[in-house]
Amino acid sequence: MSSATQKINLLNFNSTDLAAFFVEHGEKPFRAQQLIKWIHQLGVTDFSLMTNLSLVLREYLIANTEVRAPRIVAEQKSTDGTRKWLLELDDGNKIETVLIPEDDRVTLCVSTQVGCPIGCAFCFTGKLGFKRNLEIWEIIGQLWLAVRALSPDGTSKTHAVTNVVLMGMGEPLLNFENVVKAVDLMLDDLAYGLSKYRVTISTAGIVPAMERLRELSKASLAISLHAPNDELRSQIMPINKKYPLRELIAACKQYYQNEPKRVVTIEYIMLAGVNDSVAQAKELVKLLHGLPCKVNLIPYNAGDVSNLPGAISYRASAQEVIDSFRNVLLAAGINTITRKSRGADIAAACGQLVAKKSD
Ligand code: SAH
Ligand code: SF4
Repeated sequence: MSSATQKINLLNFNSTDLAAFFVEHGEKPFRAQQLIKWIHQLGVTDFSLMTNLSLVLREYLIANTEVRAPRIVAEQKSTDGTRKWLLELDDGNKIETVLIPEDDRVTLCVSTQVGCPIGCAFCFTGKLGFKRNLEIWEIIGQLWLAVRALSPDGTSKTHAVTNVVLMGMGEPLLNFENVVKAVDLMLDDLAYGLSKYRVTISTAGIVPAMERLRELSKASLAISLHAPNDELRSQIMPINKKYPLRELIAACKQYYQNEPKRVVTIEYIMLAGVNDSVAQAKELVKLLHGLPCKVNLIPYNAGDVSNLPGAISYRASAQEVIDSFRNVLLAAGINTITRKSRGADIAAACGQLVAKKSD
């Protein structure tokens, strides 16, 4: 277990909350911006180096606060360059973070919960069950660590991470407040300054939370759809019984109503013989009619389920089947890509995150 101290962890504050904290302590609110820049943009954790803060403030910070990310307990590197970190939290729980370098971008896949309560039939994280929500510092700490890992001496001022997807372990919209505040920091020019087009929150479809998210965050939205009708979706994603497709698609249509240039990303795992037929592709075209979107077809990643209860018996669709499905969508004018599976050899691919130490 890493040592939990009584100090206030400053990774738990977005810029607004830090300004309020400073005002409470008799400081000027702009100190928060200076501190956010030191901590997130420059990666400095030693308060004595923060020479634009007053001596009194530096001494207060040294005595009462700290900058502490989760502890890296293991790192694995895939043959394709994907890196996966196993992180240990103060209570001994473990989570995973995955870094995916590509030609034109470097994407970090961030976890938001320990396990997940939604229990989708095809997802290994879901099979773990749910332990708890991550704190703000545990979420933003994943990006903080990745940026530091890419610039170990801390000298690089340009962050190599260009994209963040909240597609690791957990359902982001069931950890709403903490996710929104961590995302604030990702988008904050003084922290990571990522573009709203490059920070994506993926949800299984918690409809009321989507409506709130739209008010509170500029980040991009992705929906795990995975089925073209309620009957099948309720079978493989139990959340569909609570928020059926009619409500989910309506919330998607509303999402970017005031931003006509933005589109919702629809994620669709291709499961052989389950949701991958041409007839189902046509059904999907009908379902998505009138929704500005792009579709990502995701090859199903099988995993080592030997240690997990409730064996999963899905298979990935063959490439020709994926191509035929995609052609139906393309013919209907829907922008559709087939996502490449990355890091499967180190169980870092979508849905494979289970945070086993034996990995
Ligand atoms: N809970 C959120 C975010 C995490 S899951 C959500 O469901 O959207 C991230 C993505 O990985 C989702 O689209 C999910 O459906 C997908 N996924 C889950 N298990 C998978 C598997 N075995 N193979 C491929 N993708 C999977
Ligand atoms: Fe949870 Fe997403 Fe996995 Fe479903 S797919 S069990 S919502 S992490």
